[in-house]
Amino acid sequence: MQIYLDGEFVAEEEAKLSVFDHGLLYGDGVFEGIRAYNGRVFELEGHIKRLYDSAKAIALDIPMSRTDMIEATLETVRRNGLEDGYIRLVVTRGVGDLGLNPVKCEKPTVFIIAATIRLYAEKMYRDGLKIITCSTRRNTPQAIDPAVKSLNYLNNILASLELRGTGAHEGLMLNTDGYVAECTADNFFIVRDGCIVTPAPGVGALRGITRAVVMNLVREEMGREVEEGLYTLYDVYTADEAFLTGTAAEVAPVVELDGRSIGSGRPGEMTLELMERFRAYAQRSGTPIYPD
Ligand code: PMP
Repeated sequence: MQIYLDGEFVAEEEAKLSVFDHGLLYGDGVFEGIRAYNGRVFELEGHIKRLYDSAKAIALDIPMSRTDMIEATLETVRRNGLEDGYIRLVVTRGVGDLGLNPVKCEKPTVFIIAATIRLYAEKMYRDGLKIITCSTRRNTPQAIDPAVKSLNYLNNILASLELRGTGAHEGLMLNTDGYVAECTADNFFIVRDGCIVTPAPGVGALRGITRAVVMNLVREEMGREVEEGLYTLYDVYTADEAFLTGTAAEVAPVVELDGRSIGSGRPGEMTLELMERFRAYAQRSGTPIYPD
């Protein structure tokens, strides 16, 4: 595997970082996870925009232009000969000393990995996911905004540790006021009375790229409204349908929360339609990796 590391392509075994890199010492950095489908990189510009926005929010100057970042991403996929796969872009604060002061870090570290992806089992899409509410609350925007896709994922990791031994496929996280925020690694939607609803950005969640694509598909292709607001567990328990969205999961039906069936307990009609529309859109859109 060829890895992009600070302007060069190196073999996986040579792709080494300093133990003084603040990405490692403090989780000080940002990242993106991107899919490639059918020889194209999915929503590449949207992911690059979010990467630079995350960096801006933590006052991290990415030492290359967006155009160069896009080219480096495409070239990494090319060098690994992939048509479909998963791309990880990481920018850390760079090498500093043992103090956390980021000013001592002179140059951010940039690396890009393009790998194959292990897809979710088809059974999960056919039968739906069972999820539970985690007791770990989503980070408050008053401390660190979950909109920042930072290298510090301990909040989500602690929540996902709660799934161990429960048989649940994902965990729903509430914000500190008890409103539904998102899942540990996915955004969350419910369907109520024919309306598709999802937590508003201010609740504290990642502004998912898949979420945005789904909202567009609902509006443009299905001619329906999407409502963003404040929702409690009551809204989810009594919803007609539920689903989650994410780069890896795409659109996945949720059929149970905390032992209560959602709707019929089977993937809902709107969810199934969106899954299909999303898959079709993913196959036909994206930035070509190998121009003719
Ligand atoms: N929320 C969190 C916490 C995530 O880590 C992710 C990405 N896996 C998502 C939501 C979904 O975002 P996207 O659609 O951009 O992958």
